Amino acid sequence: SDIQNKIAAGEVVERPSSIVKEIVENSLDAKASVIEVFIKNSGMDSIKVVDNGLGIDYDDRKLLFERHATSKLGKAYDLFEIRSLGFRGEALASIGAVSKVTVESMSENSTAFKLNYSAGHYEEDTVWQERQGTIIEISDLFYNTPARYKYVKNLRTEAGKIIDIMQRMALNNPSVSIRLVFDDKERFKTPGNGSLKEVIHILYGMQVSTNTVAVSGDSPDYKVSGYIVKPEITRSNRNYINLSINQRHIRNFKLSQAIIDAYHTLQAKDKYPLVFLNITMDPKLLDVNVHPSKVEVKLSKERELLELVENTVRRALLDLNL
Ligand code: ADP
Ligand code: MG
Repeated sequence: SDIQNKIAAGEVVERPSSIVKEIVENSLDAKASVIEVFIKNSGMDSIKVVDNGLGIDYDDRKLLFERHATSKLGKAYDLFEIRSLGFRGEALASIGAVSKVTVESMSENSTAFKLNYSAGHYEEDTVWQERQGTIIEISDLFYNTPARYKYVKNLRTEAGKIIDIMQRMALNNPSVSIRLVFDDKERFKTPGNGSLKEVIHILYGMQVSTNTVAVSGDSPDYKVSGYIVKPEITRSNRNYINLSINQRHIRNFKLSQAIIDAYHTLQAKDKYPLVFLNITMDPKLLDVNVHPSKVEVKLSKERELLELVENTVRRALLDLNL
């Protein structure tokens, strides 16, 4: 029902930045190699994402806004082996409940389409672009909820969150060219050539990128790789630790603490490291189903991973001091 949709929307798409995250994750799931994101008025007026991914089949177009309609789960047990970012089929249903959405898409062997969706109603458009991929535009965010007022008052905070989310997406997907445009002004554009170091350079500048050191390590169940930035180029808060598991941005207090501990044995305790680490593991050992935002994760064999991460970072820091 409409009320159910609005309640669920509160969890998955509680703010403009979480809508951006869900939409861009869909483009990544669709294996896009180029993703462009256009934000108007911190997302409140419009969020438009253009990708060159697999596209949406014509026959699926009206399922997009159905709750629990996802093309990403074959069988129930796939839930324990998730490789795509989305899997609940909830995002578009929730977004469609609190905003106006236009979807334009074409998949490889199917007809292109364009439709406008608002308050449960579809309207097919006869004008569409014939190119493989998808263009989704979300406008008038939260037009039918009290949340609208709340975000209009905090546009700057919201813009900051969108930038943060987009930067993490870029860092976790160096093989995808990601472009972010705010009110016609380009914020960044990554080349999509697979180089994490180049993404770091584009997002954090020359001084940081020339002071990064590649690190890697493995244990029976985990592999860790990425870059750490030399202790002298540290930042003053713990948000600069970028962690991902199987290319998915995650937050995990204990993992961040393990990295901070490794740094703090070597330098002043009021500064935090700038670190970019991706952990690779069997998706079976990971439970991403813990929170609707899919950011908090539970880990099996946590001890093993904490030791691996701390040792990998500590070893790299010790090597630097030689
Ligand atoms: P989920 O990602 O959990 O499957 P969503 O509500 O985010 O659910 O999206 C619903 C469905 O819409 C997806 O399963 C996918 O089939 C389709 N879809 C959405 N965005 C795109 C896109 N950019 N490219 C291709 N398919 C898409
Ligand atoms: Mg999704």
